[in-house]
Amino acid sequence: MLSRSDALEMLAGRRFDLLVVGAGIVGSRVAYEAAQSGLSVALVDAGDFGGATSSASSKLVHGGLRYLGSGDLRLVRESQTEKSALLRLAPGLVHRLPFMMAIYRHGQIGSRQMRAGLMLYGTLSGFREVWASELSPAAAAARVPGLRTEDLEAGWLYEEGQTNDGRLTLATVKGAAEAGAVVLNHAAVVELGSDEAVVEAPEGRVGVGFRAAVNASGPWVDHVRRLEDPGCVPLVRLSKGVHLLLPLPAGFDTAVSIPLGGTRATFAVPWEGMLLLGTTDTGYEGDAAAARVEPADVDMVLGEAALMLGEDVVRRDLIRHTYAGLRALPAGPGETARASREHFVNVGPQGLVSIAGGKLTTHRRIAIDVLRELPERVRPRGLRPSNRPLPGFAHPPQGRRPADVEPASWSHLIDHYGSEVDRLLAYGAHDPEALGPIAAGGPDVWAQACHAVENEWAVTAEDVLRRRTTVSIRGLGTPEVEARVDRLLAGGPGLSQHG
Ligand SMILES: Cc1cc2nc3c(=O)[nH]c(=O)nc-3n(C[C@H](O)[C@H](O)[C@H](O)COP(=O)(O)OP(=O)(O)OC[C@H]3O[C@@H](n4cnc5c(N)ncnc54)[C@H](O)[C@@H]3O)c2cc1C
Repeated sequence: MLSRSDALEMLAGRRFDLLVVGAGIVGSRVAYEAAQSGLSVALVDAGDFGGATSSASSKLVHGGLRYLGSGDLRLVRESQTEKSALLRLAPGLVHRLPFMMAIYRHGQIGSRQMRAGLMLYGTLSGFREVWASELSPAAAAARVPGLRTEDLEAGWLYEEGQTNDGRLTLATVKGAAEAGAVVLNHAAVVELGSDEAVVEAPEGRVGVGFRAAVNASGPWVDHVRRLEDPGCVPLVRLSKGVHLLLPLPAGFDTAVSIPLGGTRATFAVPWEGMLLLGTTDTGYEGDAAAARVEPADVDMVLGEAALMLGEDVVRRDLIRHTYAGLRALPAGPGETARASREHFVNVGPQGLVSIAGGKLTTHRRIAIDVLRELPERVRPRGLRPSNRPLPGFAHPPQGRRPADVEPASWSHLIDHYGSEVDRLLAYGAHDPEALGPIAAGGPDVWAQACHAVENEWAVTAEDVLRRRTTVSIRGLGTPEVEARVDRLLAGGPGLSQHG
């Protein structure tokens, strides 16, 4: 991994074929595909890699069942293809998830409609990845502890994919860096011309020369467009989505959802050993960086989840963590829940290619659509998404579980790091404490924090505890843990000396 000072020096000293502004899942994949096709690429993010929308999603790599309602069959087919691809390219980090649509009498969708929808869904995938079965209310309740059974007509069970979105983005950044891209987080583009940008990092400002630039800044897409063209008409409006994390009841291994109309649904999904509840869809205006979870958002998520789950499962005092993300939707009137989820590309007067909208699930396709819009002088030929596994996922790890690593921690490590687990084990060889838990009750170990600092560009304690590990989202990021991570970040001798 390049040090930050080396990366800054390279940014200042070279003229890149492509500058990518924003390293969420989309910008990272644009950089990954471009670098693999031979372009010299710089990828910068104002915050952390994946630190905005791409670590605040519902974590579903979904086949797009809900788009059937809007008749968008192309998006359904594309989502299904991409779900299959991601399951292959990052096995474990992207995994299968049993998903159940609970059908209540007087609900938005009846059982017959659901059956017809799932038939069409299966047909669109050529019946490759999609299976579905109807469960009686008793069978549905057996899969989802706490499920309300009054008025429950049936449960329709099918399959979705799921990921840790922050780590998927990070793996994509690693892929871009391995392919030669110069990557830097906590480095914002603050000025943008036709062939040079000014990047501001805590270390100072540098000018970065480029032949083409992509604006993949998600909710900030219009802000970055205005750096190129102050008078441009906004492309997007924003919609806030809030999620809550609660303890996962024993035996709760199937996600459950009920449709709420439009593209809205309430869902309760097992994720990282916790229960993820979501989500809202409310128009948001103002500074994207200031989006917060408000008490009314919490009320809404809890209230909607309570339509299908009992109080033992869904209760305010059980909440361990909350987060808010912003969808960038096409500008225009009407409810945000009915706005298109398709992505769209815009080319500015000086050639800046801006991308907005779309889904985490389809990010590989989005990246290719973006690269197609590059000026001919840099556009790679024969563009199609790379089918190379992401770093860490080309082959299984060589190492075996050390006796002092809990089985739950071990499977957590294998899923999130794949064969990079071998590098984590190496920390344990120097310092046995490295394989001990960062916080009691969570699966993350100190070797992950060391690896985050040395090999994964972590700059702040939040980078380590919220995105590279799952410590904060479990409510385990105590001041003591943070202080210890701060000491690791400040550099210095081995882990035990940091205790
Ligand atoms: C509530 C919610 C739930 C969702 N659930 C799902 C789901 O379950 N499945 C799914 O497939 N999709 C889901 N999505 C959609 C998905 O999360 C997004 O499509 C995706 O994360 C967008 O990624 P992005 O790279 O475009 O944007 P972002 O991840 O927001 O990345 C943009 C980056 O640009 C950076 N940036 C901004 N300005 C600058 C600047 N001046 N200089 C440098 N960098 C800059 C930011 O720091 C940020 O990191 C959900 C979205 C939301 C909001």
